[in-house]
Amino acid sequence: MSCLFCKIADGSIPSQSVYQDAQCVAFSDINPQAPVHVLVVPREHIASLAEAQEAHAPLLAHLLQAATEIARSKGLAKGYRIVINTGADGGQTVDHLHIHVLGGRKMTWPPG
Ligand code: 5GP
Ligand code: ZN
Repeated sequence: MSCLFCKIADGSIPSQSVYQDAQCVAFSDINPQAPVHVLVVPREHIASLAEAQEAHAPLLAHLLQAATEIARSKGLAKGYRIVINTGADGGQTVDHLHIHVLGGRKMTWPPG
C-alpha cells in the first residue's frame, strides 16, 4: 500500500496531529497556505471526491463536521475556507480524499 495519506492515517508516516477518531484523522499541512492549514482525511482510502459513492454520504458528513469542529478549536471565529481539490484540473496532488481547512487570514475570491 503506497498511499501517502493512508500511511499518515495509520501512523506509519508521522504528521502533526490535530484530531483523530475512528473514521478520520486531521493533521497540519506540510506546506501551509494560511496561518491555519489542516487536512481532514478519512481512514478509508477513497481516491477523490469523484470516487465517493452514495454509501459514503455519512462519512462525508462526518468529515465536514470534523472540519467545523477543528476550525472552532483553532479559534477561526471570523471564518475559514473549506476546499476539496478534485482531480487534475481541481488541483488535487494526493490521490486520497482530503478536506483542506484554511484560516487565520482573509481569503480571496476567485481562487487561483
Ligand atoms: P491537494 O493538492 O491534493 O489538494 O493537497 C495535498 C496537500 O497535502 C498539499 O497541501 C500538500 O502540502 C500536503 N502534503 C503533501 N505531502 C504531505 C506530507 O507528507 N505531510 C503533510 N502533512 N502534508 C502533505
Ligand atoms: Zn489512501
